[in-house]
Amino acid sequence: VTPLLAIRDLHKTYRLAHGESLKAVDGVSLSVMPGEMLGLVGESGCGKSTLGRCMLRLTDVSSGQILFEGRDITTMGERSLRPLRPRMQMVFQDSNASLNPRRRIGDLLAEPLRVHRDADGHRRSATVIADRLHELMNLVGLPPAALDRYAHEFSGGQRQRINIARALALSPRLIVADEPVSALDVSVQAQIVNLFADLQAQLGLTYVFVAHDLAVVRQISDRVAVMYLGAVVELGETDSVLHHPAHPYTAALTAAIPRPVVGGDRAIPLRGDVPSPISRPDGCRFHTRCPHARDRCRSEEPRLRPIRPGHEAACHFPLLSE
Ligand code: SF4
Ligand code: MG
Repeated sequence: VTPLLAIRDLHKTYRLAHGESLKAVDGVSLSVMPGEMLGLVGESGCGKSTLGRCMLRLTDVSSGQILFEGRDITTMGERSLRPLRPRMQMVFQDSNASLNPRRRIGDLLAEPLRVHRDADGHRRSATVIADRLHELMNLVGLPPAALDRYAHEFSGGQRQRINIARALALSPRLIVADEPVSALDVSVQAQIVNLFADLQAQLGLTYVFVAHDLAVVRQISDRVAVMYLGAVVELGETDSVLHHPAHPYTAALTAAIPRPVVGGDRAIPLRGDVPSPISRPDGCRFHTRCPHARDRCRSEEPRLRPIRPGHEAACHFPLLSE
């Protein structure tokens, strides 16, 4: 089976003043299979949002390769990307900022349906668009009457449902959701996470679900990628990563999840701040915060390598399970 999305040794570097550079994404390789839900987790500033935007070519990349449905989109211009855009969509964290307050929800949702032609290359009629809007409301659990209202009339959770409806309008195959529940009340978060899961089951969607904590992604992700300072440091099946974290950083992140969800005995406290990505540490990028760091960690960079089937970590001294 061809991965829906495959990225290889991807880099995204920002040039700053004074000759400095910020390596937001620093050599990431991973694949997402059709129908898979991949959780992408890390602290704020680790590059996960940038990686998400690179995946959908919402930004240029510095080097590496991105294949979508087997096609190389790494350096494609907007014109060539345009016919692919309906199949790859993003849902953003801030449900407020992305909805124009002066336009009715129905108008906002109809826009992509008017702009893009259908699969046969035809423009959609008003009737087809109206039917689709009702279908979309139904999919995200909002009443059809919502189409006549404005964004400010809805709660944060409802606005996120509207954003999801908009992302679904053109029947995408891949959705990158960038912290789609982080701005919501805890009680509402679970409802939106469940909605993502329902939609996945109904529509066979493929997701990359970006979050800053493991607790959010554990319910719906098949696999989890843990990012630290621009790189994926652990990648594997969700249960394996959560219950048997091999990288000390992942072990620290699991400490934030209530037991008995994860093997908390290996959870370690996370000390210190994330170093600046402008001057990332030599050797292992985690060594300044790692309680297990030794000399080798300060000079030699660990690469991702297999820990057990379906589970890799980038650590010279991985935490091994019995
Ligand atoms: Fe810690 Fe060394 Fe592993 Fe890095 S390589 S996570 S410093 S033990
Ligand atoms: Mg972010």
